[in-house]
Amino acid sequence: MTRPFNFSAGPAALPEEVLQQAAGEMLDWHGCGMGVMEMSHRGKEFISIAHQAQADLREVLSIPHEFKVLFMQGGALAENAIVPMNLSRGGRTDYVITGSWSQKSAKEARKYSDVQVVASNEADHHTTLPPVAAWRLSDQAAYVHVCSNETIHGVEMHELPDLKSLGCDAPLVIDCSSHIASRPIDWSRVGLAYAGAQKNIGPAGLTMVIVREDLLGHALPITPSAFDYKVVSDAESMYNTPPTYGIYLAGLVFQWIKRQVENTPQGELTGLAAIEARNAAKARLLYDFIDGSAFYSSRVAVNARSRMNIPFFLHSDALNEAFLAGAKDHGLLQLKGHKSVGGMRASIYNAMPLAGVEALVAYMKDFAQRHG
Ligand SMILES: *Cc1c(COP(=O)(O)O)cnc(C)c1O
Repeated sequence: MTRPFNFSAGPAALPEEVLQQAAGEMLDWHGCGMGVMEMSHRGKEFISIAHQAQADLREVLSIPHEFKVLFMQGGALAENAIVPMNLSRGGRTDYVITGSWSQKSAKEARKYSDVQVVASNEADHHTTLPPVAAWRLSDQAAYVHVCSNETIHGVEMHELPDLKSLGCDAPLVIDCSSHIASRPIDWSRVGLAYAGAQKNIGPAGLTMVIVREDLLGHALPITPSAFDYKVVSDAESMYNTPPTYGIYLAGLVFQWIKRQVENTPQGELTGLAAIEARNAAKARLLYDFIDGSAFYSSRVAVNARSRMNIPFFLHSDALNEAFLAGAKDHGLLQLKGHKSVGGMRASIYNAMPLAGVEALVAYMKDFAQRHG
C-alpha cells in the first residue's frame, strides 16, 4: 500500500521507513521487553537512546563542541519567552520581523526585555527579506533574533547574517523550526538555534535548543528552573522527564538523514549539503512550474522564497475548494494555505520525496487545463 503525499506544514509527514521501524519496535525495543514509552528516562536503555540521538544530531548538523544540545519542551513558542529569560539580562534585544513567527517572538520577548524591531518586511506583507545592510542594530543588544524560515509566509533566509561584519558583537538567535536539517548551518554566525521538532524532525513535544556554552548561566531570577538553560544543560536534558518518545523518534530521523546522505550521489557534496541539493531541486521544480503558469502564482520575492514552505495561489479563489478536493482524490493531502495568507501552501520538508512534488505538479497542470 502506498501512502498519500502529505504536504502538511506541521506536524508534518515523517519518513515512512522511520514509522515502520518505530512500529516494529513499539512493543519491545531491542529485546528489552519494553516499549520506549514505557521505560524509565534514567534507565540504561533510554540513556543510550538519548546519547545516540544527541550524537547523531551533532554529526548531522556539524555542531561545534562549544555548543550544548538541549532537548526541551514547550515548542518554539515557549522559546519565545525562554530565550529572553536566559539571554537578555532584562536589557535591550533586537528583533527582525519577517513574518508571523518572528512577530510573535518579538511580542513575547517584550515581557522580559526591551525589544527593538531593527528591520521589518511588514510593509511588503511579509513577502521580502529586509536587506541586512539596512538593519538598524542596537549598540548594546543582548542578542539579535531572526526567524530563518517563516513557515506561514514562505520566506527563508538563504544565508544567515554575519553580524560581526556589521560591527555587531551580539549573538545571533535563530528560530529554525521549519528548516532545521534541510541545509547546513554556519555555526560561526550563530549563538543559539531553536526548533520545534514537528516540522522537519519528529513528533510534536520535543524542542531542540543548540546554544553556545558561554551564553549559559545568566537567566533572570524569575526563570522557571525547567526552562533555565544552565539547569537543563547541567542535567543533560534530564532535569525533569524529557519527551522520551519524541527524542527516540527524532533519533530515528537523524539516522535516516545519515542514510540519505550516504545514498545521495552528489559528487563532492557531503552531509547536509547533499540534503540541501535535493531540497533545492524539489523547490525549483515547483517554483519553476508556478512561474511558468498563468494559472498559479507565488507572491514571495524570488530571493526570499522558502525551499520548505511554498505558498501559492490559483488565479481565482473560487476554485480553491475544487482544487483541494481533487488533490485529496489524487493522494495529495493538506495543501490548504494558512488562514492569514490564503490560497495554498505546499510544505516539502526532508521527508517529502521528489516523486511527491512531481505528483503535485502533474495534478496542478491537469487542474489548470480543466479550469483555465
Ligand atoms: C511551527 C512554528 C512555531 C511554533 O511552534 P510550536 O511548537 O507550536 O510552539 C514557531 N516558529 C516557527 C518558525 C514555526 O514553524
